[in-house]
Amino acid sequence: MKGSVDEGLCMGHGMCAALAPGVYEVSELGTNEMGDFEVPPGAEAAARRGARACPERAIVLDENENVSVA
Ligand code: SF4
Repeated sequence: MKGSVDEGLCMGHGMCAALAPGVYEVSELGTNEMGDFEVPPGAEAAARRGARACPERAIVLDENENVSVA
């Protein structure tokens, strides 16, 4: 699963990394500067929790990535 963080929206609340430390990293200022990233295999649920917790809706996850077209 891929995701991306809009650094222009991120206000440094740090909720993403608090809820999903294996997925999200924040800087010393508390801002998430990951940009486009790959969710580690098996961490999809944690990634969703972290994204939902973001008050700025700065994290977008690609839920359709593994859907194959017949
Ligand atoms: S929860 Fe959202 S606003 Fe807070 S650090 Fe993470 S991406 Fe940024």
